[in-house]
Amino acid sequence: MLKDLALFNKIANLLLKSEEEHPIANPIPPEDLYDKLDISLGAAPASETFFEKTIEDLILSTPRTATKLFFNQLFGGRNSKATLGDLLAVLLNNSMYTYKVAGPQVGIEKEILHKVCDIIGYPKDSDGTFAPGGSMSNFMAMLMARDAYNSSIKTEGVTQKLTLYTSAESHYSIPKNAAFIGVGREQVRHIETNKNGQMISEKLESKITEDLANGFHPFFVNATAGTTVLGAFDDIPLLSLICRKFNLWLHVDGAYCGSVIFSSKYKHLITGLEQADSFSFNAHKMLGTPLTCSIIVTKHKKHLYDSFSNDAAYLYQTDGDDYNLGKTSIQCGRRNDALKLWVLWKSVGTEGLEKIVDHQFYLAKIARSYIKSNPDYTLYSFDDSISVCFNYKNIPAQTLCTALYKNAELMVGFGTFNNEEFVRLVTINTKNTEKEILAFFKAIEKFVAKDPAFQGTEVFEQ
Ligand SMILES: *Cc1c(COP(=O)(O)O)cnc(C)c1O
Repeated sequence: MLKDLALFNKIANLLLKSEEEHPIANPIPPEDLYDKLDISLGAAPASETFFEKTIEDLILSTPRTATKLFFNQLFGGRNSKATLGDLLAVLLNNSMYTYKVAGPQVGIEKEILHKVCDIIGYPKDSDGTFAPGGSMSNFMAMLMARDAYNSSIKTEGVTQKLTLYTSAESHYSIPKNAAFIGVGREQVRHIETNKNGQMISEKLESKITEDLANGFHPFFVNATAGTTVLGAFDDIPLLSLICRKFNLWLHVDGAYCGSVIFSSKYKHLITGLEQADSFSFNAHKMLGTPLTCSIIVTKHKKHLYDSFSNDAAYLYQTDGDDYNLGKTSIQCGRRNDALKLWVLWKSVGTEGLEKIVDHQFYLAKIARSYIKSNPDYTLYSFDDSISVCFNYKNIPAQTLCTALYKNAELMVGFGTFNNEEFVRLVTINTKNTEKEILAFFKAIEKFVAKDPAFQGTEVFEQ
């Protein structure tokens, strides 16, 4: 083990140094992959030097998500404390299903869950779990809602025409999960949003009324705290009112921006969260822990147990259910995703988490000011969002993002809203400062100016 740890250190040092010098790894086109790298597996063992070299090549050729030029996704950067926690979790290799096997790590997970419930104002007997990502957190919420609506579904299967509601801007995991839970994609009602990307509550209410009149069984509403493209926040109090009126489960999908719960300045964006039946957020997005670190909490501990516990005499042999986390999780064997967040949280305190969140909004503000003050840019996103959506000189966003990627200049993606396509800059890497944000725009400008394909911008005007 020590020898491999030394190798790990060696490769990690190489990578960190290389990331400084080349924040973007030269992309390898998929058709060249097997020629460029020795990926094939053979019958004979690799010689030691060859083995090391192969691993180094592989690591150094992999896209770099921790650098100052990665703006492509809703995660980025590298928090060293959280990385330390995750490395230790790998070394320990516990499975989080029982106290017997995970010991104090169970306490770590429970402490985070209780703290989160406390911060959002959930009652004492609330509970939650770590799921393998935001999509799976949504899946768990939808399952609990389904079983809470009709507990016989667990044994008999779905026999009613159930319907569920989410905004047109919400994450694709909602329809996908609708299929998984036996409700079906076509029973998902995508409710129209207003010009800021928030679900229109009147449209929600009229759709529910219409469905009831047609013999459907509405059971679940998903609100989004930070939509995937615009970073918009649905109005929780308005949606909550409707859910109470029709007795529907309200889930808040905060995978992207739910971490605003830690910020006194921005938690107004999730006002009313305590009224929701369940809430999830990804610490691997705004808080910057390594993937994956997704938390789901619910006010209804009973439903968490009812939907997910299963007796297994070969597994649950000691300690109470409260310490055997397998009774409330979707998996059997389960990674320790809690330790990375706990190590980060312990080291910076809740105040430190607040700073992480606030800094991202500050960076977004800088980006928006730059765009607003420069006539070559058009802004499509709004204040109070860490997704900054824009176009430059009418160049189609897809063309620009792809060219930047292929030329190893920048990693940034594009999105659409209301039939407009635009570049989506995500200011989620807390390591960045004003300097990196301004450098991002300069890099685009320089690239466009020097690439002949972009000369004569009128080509792109419609
Ligand atoms: C990222 C995201 C998800 C999915 O989370 P994963 O961890 O990628 O599965 C769900 N909902 C929203 C709003 C997201 O932004």
